[in-house]
Amino acid sequence: MSESFSLSGNLGREFATICAMVAIYCRDHHGGKTPCTECQAFMEYAKTRLDRCPYGQEKPTCNKCPVHCYKPEPRELARQIMRYAGPRMLLPHPIMAIRHLLLERKPAPEKPPKNLSNRHLRLQKAASE
Ligand SMILES: [Zn+2]
Repeated sequence: MSESFSLSGNLGREFATICAMVAIYCRDHHGGKTPCTECQAFMEYAKTRLDRCPYGQEKPTCNKCPVHCYKPEPRELARQIMRYAGPRMLLPHPIMAIRHLLLERKPAPEKPPKNLSNRHLRLQKAASE
């Protein structure tokens, strides 16, 4: 099992958007009412990547990001999911979809700031408690 932790703010919203897209993709490609094991594994992977994203709360959308932290295989899956579910998000999740489109217009920062990843802040908070 993976460790349980939560993503806050922008990262939490981005994760919710990814989950909504995966649900649409899985429903139409794998036929389940809830995301299948494979898609759940992908969501876990995406969550870990978001947790460790060096941009933290300032994170650009992934297709604009210069870091490319996904491994080739999940990256390809992510591309397929986004391409399929992206345009289908507008009806069931208009606010998420529009927010994501607006974020995509924001240029990515040149370099990730230091020590701003959700994981870093989370561990730092745990250590000070
Ligand atoms: Zn699936």
